[in-house]
Amino acid sequence: MSCLKLTETASNAAASHGADFNPFEAMQPRAPSPTPTELRNGARVKRDDVAPQGVYLPNNNVLTPHMRSPDYVQLSTAAAMTLGIMPGRMHRCECTRCLNLLLTYPEGCRANCAYCGLARHREAERDYADRNFIRVDWPAVPMEQIIEIVARDPINSPFHRMCISMITHPRSDDDTVQVLRAWTRRIDPSAIPVSILSNPTTMTRDDVVRLKDLGADIFTVALDAATPEIFDRTRGKGVQSPHKWSKYWEILMHARDVFGPQKFGAHIIVGMGETEHDVLALVQKLVDLGGHSHMFCFFPEKGSLMDHLPATPRDQWRRVQLARYLIDYAGVRVDQMRFDEVGRVIDYGMARSDLDRIIAEGIAFRTSGCPGKFRDDLSACDRPYGDSPPSNIASFPFQPNGNDLRKIRRQLGIPVVREDS
Ligand code: SF4
Repeated sequence: MSCLKLTETASNAAASHGADFNPFEAMQPRAPSPTPTELRNGARVKRDDVAPQGVYLPNNNVLTPHMRSPDYVQLSTAAAMTLGIMPGRMHRCECTRCLNLLLTYPEGCRANCAYCGLARHREAERDYADRNFIRVDWPAVPMEQIIEIVARDPINSPFHRMCISMITHPRSDDDTVQVLRAWTRRIDPSAIPVSILSNPTTMTRDDVVRLKDLGADIFTVALDAATPEIFDRTRGKGVQSPHKWSKYWEILMHARDVFGPQKFGAHIIVGMGETEHDVLALVQKLVDLGGHSHMFCFFPEKGSLMDHLPATPRDQWRRVQLARYLIDYAGVRVDQMRFDEVGRVIDYGMARSDLDRIIAEGIAFRTSGCPGKFRDDLSACDRPYGDSPPSNIASFPFQPNGNDLRKIRRQLGIPVVREDS
């Protein structure tokens, strides 16, 4: 087999971008500042106790209404536009295929993950419902209003999937069940399958079983960090946050048992200090367990404890995107790939002609996540511009065109194949 050996890739990329990966030493989060007692736990919102009036568009200049799940949820800007409750257009996208819902409470998420805009350390600065998350605002909407719109015609809905994102809050487990119940009472989950983006810290095996019994299709765990050290530094003790790597794996293994093959997975953020080998070994482990990985490119979220750090260089991101796709969908194993002394991919373990075909198809560079209705390797969860600005796209929420693919090839350091090669 003639394998592509990319020994020149890293040096080319390094020449054009400086460092072409985010090393562990460089990706240290800031320490969270203490929140004054009178501003903790959503105290401002609860004190003002403004009654919500339908849809609430995030606005840091008005009093935030007192909204709680399961009556209220937040949804991504893309989902709100697709649903028709927010005006606007998205760059090169007609709509999103995933209705991403987020539980909401004045107290917000009680965790403090360093890369996340929803984290607890922002209490003094911004009420929970006004915080940015994966680069966008999340309007708050009555759950009944969302159901009312989608239930009119679920089969022909633009949404191929609905996803409930849990947060770290004492009500999160029960309210996820309430939101799922309310949805499945009106919308057949076979018309629009449901995914759960779980929060293991507060969960037990019984919670996993309950969600499966109520009709959830896929269960994912937001591991986010690729190694225990990065997990602890970004979402555990390192930032006064309650999460533990072992607890996340415990729930992931319950999900494997309860939901079964291809119906569970883990979110991983690339570029927080792990090596490419670290993250791809994790991708392989998930595949060997029967699951999938859903990848995010690290972006310094405004207001987060990592907002001073560099976004993942595109060279690193493209190598990991491509290698992850090969492991998840093309039967290549991580041990067939080769890595340099700092863990960068230098050989994808695949014949050049096959690799060229996969690059040309472009799916490997699209947003990864739970599948929609088109094909198994194409995510419904397209999260438009959730991990990059439109000017320098990391995860493509649409099919990359010829220009996009030429740019991707430059970022990969894999030149266009010539007819005679
Ligand atoms: S648990 Fe999730 S929502 Fe809460 S701070 Fe961490 S990443 Fe953000």
